[in-house]
Amino acid sequence: MTTPLSQLGEFGLIDRLRRRFDTPPEGIVGIGDDAAVFPGPDGRGEVVTTDMFVEGIHYDFAYVPLHLLGWKVVSATLSDVAAMRAQPKFFFLSMALSNRFTVEGVDAVYDGIAAACQYYDTHLLGGDTTTIRSGSVFHGVGIGEELPARITYRKGARPGDLICVSGNLGAAFLGLHVLEREKEVLRDTHGAAPHLDKYRYLLERYLRPVARFDIVRTLNEETVTTTAMIDISDGLSSDLLHILHQSQVGCDIYEDRLPIDPLTFKTALEFNLSPATCVLHGGEDYELLFTVPAEQESRVNRIPDISVIGRIVADPAHRIFHTTGGGKAALTAQGWDSFLKKQAASDTE
Ligand code: ADP
Ligand code: MG
Repeated sequence: MTTPLSQLGEFGLIDRLRRRFDTPPEGIVGIGDDAAVFPGPDGRGEVVTTDMFVEGIHYDFAYVPLHLLGWKVVSATLSDVAAMRAQPKFFFLSMALSNRFTVEGVDAVYDGIAAACQYYDTHLLGGDTTTIRSGSVFHGVGIGEELPARITYRKGARPGDLICVSGNLGAAFLGLHVLEREKEVLRDTHGAAPHLDKYRYLLERYLRPVARFDIVRTLNEETVTTTAMIDISDGLSSDLLHILHQSQVGCDIYEDRLPIDPLTFKTALEFNLSPATCVLHGGEDYELLFTVPAEQESRVNRIPDISVIGRIVADPAHRIFHTTGGGKAALTAQGWDSFLKKQAASDTE
């Protein structure tokens, strides 16, 4: 008898694979965080992470311009370096291309890759190039480094810590919704669609995300201690649950503290979606989610682009979302993929 992959799910499968290997030696962090960490020759921590992007799953050329795909592969991969509170250094890019791709197309993808590498002050050091029968796959490897004392894992959150998030959430998710709705128009007009100008901010959040090294820099300048950190790629709820699970703690999160852009709010209502749902379960925000000791509250409050959305509590079973109306709900993971699948299922009902 065989077991379908769906029975384990992505995280169950990764956990199963992890258990086949010995725990890495003291001082080395392997599977289970945003990136692996090992000691470098000069005493710094070296940080390595990889991310894969598959056509038809992670991007659709009907509405994703080639250069922005290149930008996004670098940004999304390096976001996991930022999630360790480390600095980016090097990048490798591998790709599998079908013969539908042209030389000019590859140039365009690399325009975005080069722009992003320059933006993040990161050097492209290599990669691999191969063919595929149909579609395309891009695979990024990001390498960074930082002083071991600054590197922040998913596992260090302690009771009483403040739960903080950078920027605002849910915008990329709604950007994708707009693009999916307009897919046929965009295909016919080769992306020229002035009527989408009013959604520009949402489209940009989906198509051109930025890894938040600016936040990492500010945390360093303000000497803020971070006890746990992750980047929000799957959705706030799903990624917060990773911190809670690995730190063996619980949380209180408050709806009225969640950062949401007014256009995200308005567009959620236009799609008959609850804005809070988009913030909690939308994904690809690439913002940083982290915990800070309570005594540093005033320091964190001085930083404009950071919101305190709740607190860590000792009981791991206590994972409460407090609604604006005074209600309480259990915080559950319903990340990007599963949320989209649920959307698709409800669309066909
Ligand atoms: P993120 O969303 O931050 O990119 P992932 O959920 O992709 O993180 O991965 C979580 C952890 O699992 C990481 O430490 C990653 O290196 C590890 N991982 C993912 N896939 C595999 C795999 N096929 N084999 C070994 N480790 C994996
Ligand atoms: Mg991550």
